[in-house]
Amino acid sequence: MDLTCLGIEGTAHSFGAAIVSDDGTIHSNIYSMFSPHEGGIHPREASRYHSEIGPELIGKSISTAQIDPSDIDLIAFSRGPGLGPCLRTTATMARTLALTMSIPLVGVNHCVAHIEIGCLESGFHDPVTVYVSGGNTQIIAYAGKRFRTFGETMDIAIGNMLDVLGRSLGMPFPAGPLVEKEALAGSKLQLLPYSVKGMDLSYSGMLTAAQRLWSDGAPLEEVCFSVQETAFGMLAEISERALAHTKKKELLLTGGVARNNRLTEILEGVASRHNVEFHRVSPQLAGDQGAMIAWTGIQQFQSGDSVEIADSHVLPRWRTDEQDITWRA
Ligand code: AMP
Ligand code: MG
Repeated sequence: MDLTCLGIEGTAHSFGAAIVSDDGTIHSNIYSMFSPHEGGIHPREASRYHSEIGPELIGKSISTAQIDPSDIDLIAFSRGPGLGPCLRTTATMARTLALTMSIPLVGVNHCVAHIEIGCLESGFHDPVTVYVSGGNTQIIAYAGKRFRTFGETMDIAIGNMLDVLGRSLGMPFPAGPLVEKEALAGSKLQLLPYSVKGMDLSYSGMLTAAQRLWSDGAPLEEVCFSVQETAFGMLAEISERALAHTKKKELLLTGGVARNNRLTEILEGVASRHNVEFHRVSPQLAGDQGAMIAWTGIQQFQSGDSVEIADSHVLPRWRTDEQDITWRA
């Protein structure tokens, strides 16, 4: 079967549209990120952004792929988890397209899509996945028809922690890359809360402590260095435990924070100590984008999982382990 899918992503601040075919070829992957002038992301402002730029980006994904709209067989959209207003705007575009083009609609779990695009790129079949982004921090592995969450943050996501810290340090959004750059000049490790509880972790105490360190006069590079070493060390610990427990042979790093070179270096060390293969998803597929939604949508559809328009309500709190993975053996 030759299947071409338009995938639409819009769970949070990014909007993306992509054309992918069932052999795994990504024909286009267009995305754009809403950044507020000041402060954090307001869900309604982000959703307004999506509705303003969405149609143009969808058109661009089709023209870049050099296909005719009639070549599209399937619409996949990010159904959750995410911010309600953003999800609803994205779902409305997806439904409208599926209706007017009379083609099937597939609702994709955003977190599952981050894993599947990583597997497509790496050729991995069954990894332990470290999924780190602005909204999520999870260690995930497949078992019994679901992607099980082995460990996760109990409060804020690592990307969010870096962005909020960065705002206190006077950095623009997103601050993750700037924290990484400053940390390169640091070498003195300041003590910050190392908060691993069982397989879960917590970043809110570290955020407060790092903000205090900064207001007490610690140098910028020292704050950034200490935050990275501590936060990434916590992730390494639970990743090691997940590998030891599941005996899986692949370690995948995905999500926007996967762009961080220091985190990559630390997890490469974990993988080599456990004698497993390691892959870090490339920058253009690490953050939120439509290709991951299209690719997951294709596999889901091929296993018989599509959704009627009337049943396609969004799922803002849809957990990774609540999606039946019908397409994996
Ligand atoms: P996502 O939520 O997947 O779109 O990813 C966005 C998040 O990734 C934001 O929180 C960014 O600060 C973070 N991010 C992007 N690049 C880096 C980097 N080099 N180091 C750390 N975090 C990063
Ligand atoms: Mg994401």
